[in-house]
Amino acid sequence: MLLKKDILQDGHPTLRKRAIDVKLPLSKSNFKLLHSMMEYIENSQDDEMVEKYSLRPSVGLAAPQIDYSMKMFAMKTMDEKFETLHKYAVVNPKIISYSVTKTYLPGGEGCLSVDEDITGIVIRSKKIRARVNLVNLETNEVEEKVIKLTGYPAIVFQHEYDHLLGVMFTDKIEKTIPDCNPIEFKEPEIAEEQNLSTQ
Ligand code: ZN
Repeated sequence: MLLKKDILQDGHPTLRKRAIDVKLPLSKSNFKLLHSMMEYIENSQDDEMVEKYSLRPSVGLAAPQIDYSMKMFAMKTMDEKFETLHKYAVVNPKIISYSVTKTYLPGGEGCLSVDEDITGIVIRSKKIRARVNLVNLETNEVEEKVIKLTGYPAIVFQHEYDHLLGVMFTDKIEKTIPDCNPIEFKEPEIAEEQNLSTQ
């Protein structure tokens, strides 16, 4: 089981590398890795586990953050309207289009690899399309797919995708309030409680 100590902190060289493509079909060890990444996210969204293991709540984790410089990440979050669950374990993702319309998280982004409390507004595309190899963690089947994401899940995806390029959100912080509309959470206090901005 992954614990807080397994997550690399900013300054570690692996976080700055461009991750390499993952060989398909996926090896057993890479399946296991994706499983443990998703397990970390799920544990970090469970109050009891958070308390027991001092986990930081999260919605996404990329392989370089646990010292595997490979193009894989896991994310699990509701959209900002709390209507649809977006749970993905992806391999070799490629964002193929970005909307011109931009957005940002009003409270700024956070990151499991940045323990200090840096609050930074990062401008992201409101919608993206990405070609991914989507791993079904129940059946271990892998399916090549194009997924379309909008709003908060699109931000999470772009944040994790940046980790595969060796880019941290702290590289992209805006100094002024951007000239675009922020994500509006249906229930901001719930978003705050769940610390939904931590990836
Ligand atoms: Zn991060």
